[in-house]
Amino acid sequence: MPTLIVNARVFSPDPLGICQVLVEGERVAAVADRVDLQGDELTVIDANGRWLLPGFVDALTHPCGGGGEGGFHNRTSEVPFEAFVRAGVTSPVGALGTDSITRSLEVLYGNVMALRRQGLAPFMYTGSYRVPVDTLTGDVTRDLVMIDPVIGVGEIAIADHRSSQPSAAELRRIAADARLGGTISGKGGTVMIHLGDGSGRLALLHQTLADSDLPISAFYPTHCNRSAALLEGAAKFARAGAWIDLTASTVPEFIQAGEVPALQALRELIAEGVPRDRISISSDAGGSLPLYENGVLQGLTAACPSVMLEVLQAARHEEAKFIAVVVGALTRNPANALGLTHKGRVRAGASADLLLFDPQTGELGDVMCRGRWLLRDKRLSPMTGGRRL
Ligand code: ZN
Repeated sequence: MPTLIVNARVFSPDPLGICQVLVEGERVAAVADRVDLQGDELTVIDANGRWLLPGFVDALTHPCGGGGEGGFHNRTSEVPFEAFVRAGVTSPVGALGTDSITRSLEVLYGNVMALRRQGLAPFMYTGSYRVPVDTLTGDVTRDLVMIDPVIGVGEIAIADHRSSQPSAAELRRIAADARLGGTISGKGGTVMIHLGDGSGRLALLHQTLADSDLPISAFYPTHCNRSAALLEGAAKFARAGAWIDLTASTVPEFIQAGEVPALQALRELIAEGVPRDRISISSDAGGSLPLYENGVLQGLTAACPSVMLEVLQAARHEEAKFIAVVVGALTRNPANALGLTHKGRVRAGASADLLLFDPQTGELGDVMCRGRWLLRDKRLSPMTGGRRL
């Protein structure tokens, strides 16, 4: 039965004002001031002026856990379905990380397919930090063509003591293979790049792109807000046509050490003339974060998808124009960077991945993914592919 959501203030992510949104099957069928329907049976939901926005597209998550740096006991846990849903993340993009030995792409694939079965619309990268690239089928191009949720490669680490110190030629080959796989399968074929705190920053990407036929958008660097210097380099990269990604999860000690909080970084990038549609924000959920108490390192904790929602909560009292920029960074921009052009927008024909957000309380009450409510009135839907929540 179609669902008509009325009295919603829509950010598509563009601010459309109060609209009605019609959902049929897994798609948005119409967005208009008034949707005229004749003779249809219809479920009508009154949003009561709440904001309706696309489900978040989280371009870097670690659903099967991450960490493991500093010993086996520092591995982090899986990120549960409920954590993504309550954060409004309808399309988490899963990646391995530093450790591709005690975790594998097969395990990541299993996690991604479980989330999909439970009702989300997740995707994954093949590869890990390492070069040569770990793959499922033995070949990057083949992974993209043959494995449904694989949409790119990543996160390949550069400018980091934990990286494989890849050469420009190696990166060029990875991007070319990903691009060919994407071309054959109709996917983005993007290479997500983990930027560490090494002094090389983005130099290797510039070197890789020089004398190549690859577009700059073949590489999608993340953790660009790790320092002011890295952010400046990323601004230049984005002004040249790339998409760049900011990491929302952090700890106070990182900020003290010079990390720029994601929302502040977004403002600074726009002030520096970076096109607003080229900046995205991701959670790095499942990645490890240091845990301090009174300045003393106690161990590790894990980043959570909820930081995506916290970014929106922090921006909700701003003017509509800036809110639209923030929503774009959480939805349409990462979707475009990854070639997921049916995701991250509210418009006819797009996936019905929708959030209802109360700007007064900052609460996310309702989450729809692929036309099905996963959260209604802050309660999880009982339909979760037969798995206990
Ligand atoms: Zn990373």
